[in-house]
Amino acid sequence: VDRARVVRVTSFDPAGRTLRKAAVVAVGSELLTPWRIDTNSLYVTERLDDLGIEVVMKAVVGDSAEEIDAAFRQALHRAHLVVLTGGLGPTADDLTRDVVSAALDLTLEEDETITARIRARFEARGWRMPENNRRQAMVPRGAQVIENPNGTAPGLWIERKDAVVLMLPGPPRELQPMLDRLVTGPLAARSGPERLRRRVLRIAGRAESHVEELTQPVYSAWQSQDLPIDTTILAAPGQIELHLSVRTPDPETGQRRLDQAVQELRGVLGRDLFTVDGKLLEEVVGELLRSRAERVAIAESCTGGLVASRLTDVPGSSEYVERGVVCYSNASKVELLGVAASLIDEHGAVSEPVASAMAAGMRERARTDWAVAVTGIAGPGGGSDLKPVGTVAIAVAGPLGRARVKTVRFPGGRLQVKTQASQVALDLLRRMLEDASGSPGAR
Ligand code: ATP
Ligand code: MG
Repeated sequence: VDRARVVRVTSFDPAGRTLRKAAVVAVGSELLTPWRIDTNSLYVTERLDDLGIEVVMKAVVGDSAEEIDAAFRQALHRAHLVVLTGGLGPTADDLTRDVVSAALDLTLEEDETITARIRARFEARGWRMPENNRRQAMVPRGAQVIENPNGTAPGLWIERKDAVVLMLPGPPRELQPMLDRLVTGPLAARSGPERLRRRVLRIAGRAESHVEELTQPVYSAWQSQDLPIDTTILAAPGQIELHLSVRTPDPETGQRRLDQAVQELRGVLGRDLFTVDGKLLEEVVGELLRSRAERVAIAESCTGGLVASRLTDVPGSSEYVERGVVCYSNASKVELLGVAASLIDEHGAVSEPVASAMAAGMRERARTDWAVAVTGIAGPGGGSDLKPVGTVAIAVAGPLGRARVKTVRFPGGRLQVKTQASQVALDLLRRMLEDASGSPGAR
């Protein structure tokens, strides 16, 4: 090969059939162990989704010529676009390039331009390029070479009459920028006019089956409309997510359609719906506090600081988070928050009176508008008949004598109890902030 084939991905304008269906093959024996997970295919799927290219199959295979070959052939049958990730490195177990070239009957030729670039990368660090790395300069005849600014292995784009085959390096920090540029460039040009628009709605305080029951009549009607909306329900500890998506060439129509759909869901979900644009509960709470110029303090027993941690995950939270204390022992509840020891003796540390006293004590000592308190039994030990594992008392104290307390019994292990308790605590604060603002409902 005598001419430079390293091109800027934006400079080539692939012609050919529209890519509607994609398959992803993740190559790497480590991805079949319990220690490493294939995240590249998630990233690829997300980016292709944006272009309206549907991922119809995924495979994970080890560094075996036979397995790569079998997965690749199956993928070619099923999709217009096959994306292979990994196995483009310089070592003998990096087989993707060789196997794909053989399957497509393409000879491999060394591209001296690539060799020179790889050599230069090594020399820039004062190293000599190992001969092994020449493997990474081998290009199947006719393939386009995709620059890799973050590593040695370039990507490869092979155009067939009925498909595009794309090989990308395995390390996510190399793959992601390469794919990003393909998505705005040649892949967009080949993807057809439709684009996917999405909305992520989140609901607190209801079970998945209940959300399903409420929303199913609404969203099943969307399926028969001109512009059908796809709906997916996902359950996570303490919240249910509804993902809406619509495919259309016209972004404004898509947005309008989704706005309508969101309005309909708001009607049945009411205040349990806390976001219609993918915000986290801690972000929603943060926005409410900021808009009211109020601050919060947090007193945590069984959540061990999780509520404070979540609130402070949000950039700019120093504006409204005053402090948090982890008061795990009874003594610390007395010393740090001024809870009366007799109250703990009488009702137990996990009780509504103690939770309320924790919140009131925290609010007073921190001189904040709001205080949240959590006390519970995360398990696996410490439960009783009256207060089984998973019992958590949650209190919020607020301005103008506003105070609420509730007891919830969560299922699951220690971490799930903590996660759910933090969720209910934040959600209680959200509802009280909304009440105080006189503007209930999802923002
Ligand atoms: P290299 O030149 O680094 O060898 P490569 O294209 O051969 O690149 P691999 O050797 O297959 O890539 O993978 C390198 C590293 O990238 C792996 O150790 C792993 O950490 C990460 N990686 C590979 N494939 C994936 C994947 N599908 N998802 C997430 N990480 C991956
Ligand atoms: Mg490798």
